[in-house]
Amino acid sequence: MENRPAIPTKLKRSVLVEAGHRCAIPTCRQIPVELAHITPWSKVKEHTYENLIALCPTCHTRFDRGEIDSQILGILKQAAGGVPVSALCREHGMSSATFYKWRAKYGGMDASLMARMKELEKENAKLKKMYAEAQMKSEVLQEALEKKW
Ligand SMILES: [Zn+2]
Repeated sequence: MENRPAIPTKLKRSVLVEAGHRCAIPTCRQIPVELAHITPWSKVKEHTYENLIALCPTCHTRFDRGEIDSQILGILKQAAGGVPVSALCREHGMSSATFYKWRAKYGGMDASLMARMKELEKENAKLKKMYAEAQMKSEVLQEALEKKW
């Protein structure tokens, strides 16, 4: 194990207070919690308020296994900490409707399911476009046929 200093008590307390002493995953909200690094400790090598989040042991394990997206975790932390949704949306370039939908939908969802969901949304958009194009072609064809007769 590498030499990793303990998280200062004051810092630990403020992160816990921010999260309301509950797991920061909206669909979880379990107690007790432990602190997790959003960007892995091995990369940042320091304890900062922005990079620490309160998670229950279950969510912490899921996060460590890569089942929870770290960007989403960061947004959840900010939201739990009282950053207004409008500010979060500006910062991350999303609409508030997207945020609420996403929080309800993906809050407790693991990364593989989330990836599948995004894939399906993309597929759906593609199909819609294909359908619109096919419909246009058939209208053009119909028009051409009508002129012939
Ligand atoms: Zn949890």
